[in-house]
Amino acid sequence: MKETPQQAVLRKLFDRIETLGTISSDTPGLTRVFLSKEMDIASRLIQSWMSNAGLIASVDRMQNVVGSWPAETAHPPAIHIGSHYDTVINAGKYDGPLGVLLSIAAVETLRLEGYEPKHPINVAAFCDEEGVRFRSTFLGSSFFCGTFDTRFLDNVDDAGNSMRSLLELRGFDTSSFNQGTPLIGKDDLFLEAHIEQGPILERLNLSLGVVSGIAAQTRIHVTITGESGHAGTTPLDLRRDALTTAAEMILAVEASFADNPNARATVGQIKNYPNATNAIPGEVEFMIDLRNPVTAGLNQMRDTLLNKLDEIAARRTTEFKAEILQTVDSITCDSNVQQALSKALAKHQERVTTFTSGAGHDALKIAQTCRTGMMFVRCRNGLSHHPDEYCSPKDIEVALAAWVDTLRELDQNFPTPEKANA
Ligand SMILES: [Zn+2]
Repeated sequence: MKETPQQAVLRKLFDRIETLGTISSDTPGLTRVFLSKEMDIASRLIQSWMSNAGLIASVDRMQNVVGSWPAETAHPPAIHIGSHYDTVINAGKYDGPLGVLLSIAAVETLRLEGYEPKHPINVAAFCDEEGVRFRSTFLGSSFFCGTFDTRFLDNVDDAGNSMRSLLELRGFDTSSFNQGTPLIGKDDLFLEAHIEQGPILERLNLSLGVVSGIAAQTRIHVTITGESGHAGTTPLDLRRDALTTAAEMILAVEASFADNPNARATVGQIKNYPNATNAIPGEVEFMIDLRNPVTAGLNQMRDTLLNKLDEIAARRTTEFKAEILQTVDSITCDSNVQQALSKALAKHQERVTTFTSGAGHDALKIAQTCRTGMMFVRCRNGLSHHPDEYCSPKDIEVALAAWVDTLRELDQNFPTPEKANA
């Protein structure tokens, strides 16, 4: 039986997910970091798929790919949909690309229907969300909004290449790095589709969820200084062991928030010096990642924890230094966008659930510029940032249908900014 045009859109969507999943600097595995050869290849593929869907594709100076729907019927404000196309190291193929490719397919579906948009519709594929190469996240979406901090141009990767030098290799003059007029305006809407990266939808047996907001997060770099010494000669009660201090602190990070279901507190990285079998550890560095649905809650967590760690260090006669590296405030997704998403999801699954995202996303950055919303798609075992990351074809099919309905609904009944703030 010959496939219908709608079936062809879905088939292309599945094929594109697989194809992008092979564009990797490592094999086996999937690694695609900002300003790499693989990103250049992925960018060209995404542009060709956008063109195939009837969008006019372009690439900005940061390597964001944007596809604009050419429509004489469209008048601002605009609706932007999409996600990122970079990955972490040894990633899965859905985190980021799913939102980009679903958005291309949504436009393709609406164009098949002969739909004429009232508002400009753009599909965005952001070049760096994960921040792997230059240790700073949201580079693509901040450039898209015109809020990119040009000081980051001098960040260097592990091989010593600066972002500036890699951009210049691509023919950009960074001495007068001008972000130009951002494509996104304050009255516009931005919608992102993304895998959930958590277990909630799977537990509720639902394909899709509406995101109510994105949690606040902070990263704290801790240094503990004790005194190194010979493991055989220094009695236990005369030691100033930085690693045993760190051990007690890490347990305190966990214990401090065990009763708070909204809190997330993680120590995921640690360095021990001199890190030798026969040496008492003299210095330890570790990172604390704290998250909370609201900024005030996060601040409280941080203050409580730092006091506790200070007390532990003092009791163990070690020196404690905490440096707050990055803090991102929580955001609330626009209520009108949440409503449009809920209405669309209700058509395709028996009930709708709404919850906060604990992971950061491009929508978090873009919320500083305009109203945003997000749809989550179930992923197996809540797993992400891993080669086994998986979304079922059925869930992707439902996601596409809901994404098309949401886009149509918001285009037809575009929420005015006044209404949004009411
Ligand atoms: Zn992502």
